[in-house]
Amino acid sequence: MKRLLLCACSAAVVGLAAHAEVRIAAGPSLAVSQLDAVNVALAGRGVHYRVAKMDYITAPGSGHFGATVFSKDVGNRQLDSRFVPDLLVYASSNPGVLSYAIDTAEGVAHGGLSGADTSGAISRAMGTWAAQTCAPIPMGQVAPLPPGLDLGIVQNILGFGGAPFYLADVTHAGWLPAAFFDAIETNGSQFILGVTYTFIWEDADGNPVDTNGDHKIDAALAETYYNNAFQWTNQAVDFTSPLVDVETIALHESGHALGQDHFGQISLDGKGTQILQQQHVLDVSHLHFSPRAVMNAIYWDTQRAPLGTDQAAHCAIWGTWGQ
Ligand SMILES: [Zn+2]
Repeated sequence: MKRLLLCACSAAVVGLAAHAEVRIAAGPSLAVSQLDAVNVALAGRGVHYRVAKMDYITAPGSGHFGATVFSKDVGNRQLDSRFVPDLLVYASSNPGVLSYAIDTAEGVAHGGLSGADTSGAISRAMGTWAAQTCAPIPMGQVAPLPPGLDLGIVQNILGFGGAPFYLADVTHAGWLPAAFFDAIETNGSQFILGVTYTFIWEDADGNPVDTNGDHKIDAALAETYYNNAFQWTNQAVDFTSPLVDVETIALHESGHALGQDHFGQISLDGKGTQILQQQHVLDVSHLHFSPRAVMNAIYWDTQRAPLGTDQAAHCAIWGTWGQ
């Protein structure tokens, strides 16, 4: 018998259904408040983009599910957003090319990885999505960036450094301290491995726009942050390792940046349930993923290539890019 792993989760998790990601409705959670505070700050800066949602992935033994949290003011309609060729940051100079940038100030990750180590893994992950044959994405890295360039609009607003501007459509904004993740959910630094914020464009009246008529809100930017309270590696590791594979998380977070939601049902088998009840220990060897996917809401082990449902979702989103 399989049981949904709901017992040990955050009270804010409202449910888990096959095919659906875990979605948290707007409510009095820290994450919702944070998104709305970011949007108040963006409005104050006079810019025409707002954060619509955040997606975070969790550590397997933590008992917490990854989640999607929508901002109350703009994201609460839970509409999907998509990048639009004409609205890309470098649309005029490099038409149709999706750009990404990697922070050069916060690339060092606990576990002994240098900025070159982590940026290499991130670039490989971006390249993996770009190279999907069903929908090859013209993609370009914004480089070279000067050393010590601290990118990240969300972190900038929240007082963790960063910058009040963007250089790319997708930004990997670096490894942030525990406090950044504790500001997302209570004790979030203990279970959130990475988080991606999706921004959308607004018109002058503050309404989300759909300029290309694809019935999706026009995405403006995406920013990914990695949790430096965990130990990271570039080695392929299995589920028994306390180390987290950078490329796996970068591939997952980039999947969000490129429009994908969480996917798959995660459950604890009978033995795992017994262990949890008797010893209050979540034995990750008894976690089951149906199906296993890069876009599962919980990290499990090294997975550096998209699996069936990841590919299908990616092809659906990007198959008509630029046409
Ligand atoms: Zn995720």
